[in-house]
Amino acid sequence: MEITTRSWTQAIALVDCDNFFVSCELLLNPKLKGKPVCVLSNNDGCVISRSKEAKRLNIKMGEPVFLARKRVPEAIYLSSNFHHYGIVSDKIMNILKSFTPEVEVYSIDEAFVDLTGVRQMFKKPYLEIIKDIREKVLKETGIPVSIGVSLSKVLAKIATKIAKDKSDGLFSISGKELRETLPKISIGSIWQIGHNTESLLLKHGIDNAYKLACQDEKWVEKTLTKKGLELQMEMKGYSIWKVDTKGQEIKGIQRTKSFASSTNDKEIIRGALFYHLHKALTELRRKNLKAGLLSIMLRRKDFQSFSLNTIIDPPSNFEFDFTNRINSLFNNLYKEGLYRSCGIHLTNFTSGETEQLNLFSQTLSLSNKKKESLAETWDSIEQRFGKQSLRTASMPSLNYLDKRAIRGIETFSSFEYLPEVR
Ligand SMILES: [Mg+2]
Repeated sequence: MEITTRSWTQAIALVDCDNFFVSCELLLNPKLKGKPVCVLSNNDGCVISRSKEAKRLNIKMGEPVFLARKRVPEAIYLSSNFHHYGIVSDKIMNILKSFTPEVEVYSIDEAFVDLTGVRQMFKKPYLEIIKDIREKVLKETGIPVSIGVSLSKVLAKIATKIAKDKSDGLFSISGKELRETLPKISIGSIWQIGHNTESLLLKHGIDNAYKLACQDEKWVEKTLTKKGLELQMEMKGYSIWKVDTKGQEIKGIQRTKSFASSTNDKEIIRGALFYHLHKALTELRRKNLKAGLLSIMLRRKDFQSFSLNTIIDPPSNFEFDFTNRINSLFNNLYKEGLYRSCGIHLTNFTSGETEQLNLFSQTLSLSNKKKESLAETWDSIEQRFGKQSLRTASMPSLNYLDKRAIRGIETFSSFEYLPEVR
């Protein structure tokens, strides 16, 4: 057994937003602070984020909303608004990158940050640095985060879990503290250990992180494969899984939603496709990306789904370049029948700057500069006046997308979702 006692050969932090979706909703409506608030999944199916107060009322993660409402009618249940959460997430990630470029966006509300060496620059201990990060994120975005820092990703995950239960939201595990901390960490709570591995290890009497760290390496590799051995090394304080700053550009954007009830109304379905397209393109513009492939998907009432795709050449992030494509894909794909949902998928991204000139393009009737400034204006009008203030002539009237037709779709600004606050 050899657990490192060297301190800080590496310093990896995990920044995890607290109750992220609910925290984002509180930014829009501060009156909800201190109340039991839940955010619901697409189509308002189940609870996916809970405020402290909602957790205290024993509302469970993933609980179906009809059960939660019955059990805890006094809680406030909100439809999700992923567009808004994405904007807040981007802001937070950019703040992290102001400390070091070594940031791996792990999910919408979590990021690994390699702080190795940053200590010399800031001339303070790592615990002080993560305190600065926490304060800056809170001050500039209003979102509370928990941060753990340790020698590897696996240990950073453990540190963050401990940080969640601390009032200052911070925790650090140095090499010297491993012996003291690891025995308190149950085997099933370790990142990357699933149910099957957990029961296997329990069968061998390995019920905490310290016991796994102390296991014979050969046994670990034989029983848990090479990945298990890497995990063990990480737990001993060796950083095997590096913070990956590359390879995290988004590969595709998919937007799908079910209709409130199955429909055969072509205009409702086409309208929903345009709605999804517009939301996806807004996101692409925000990230300065252009899509080179568009797919549309229709799912029938019997769950059979059909899709078609088309190349967008040159790649674009502007509605006008997609309108005819969506119309023709839809006309080819639609057959009489009842449909339960539809969606679009954009992929083959290129960065906004590295666009290739295509001499055969049919979309040059509007110069790229003009398109860009039109798109920017569109986005800023929406930001000020709400979604769907504008539409292109070839888009169907979005009045079609009334609340009755498409339940849970984010056609309306999230303010309208907020229930009366008593
Ligand atoms: Mg979180």
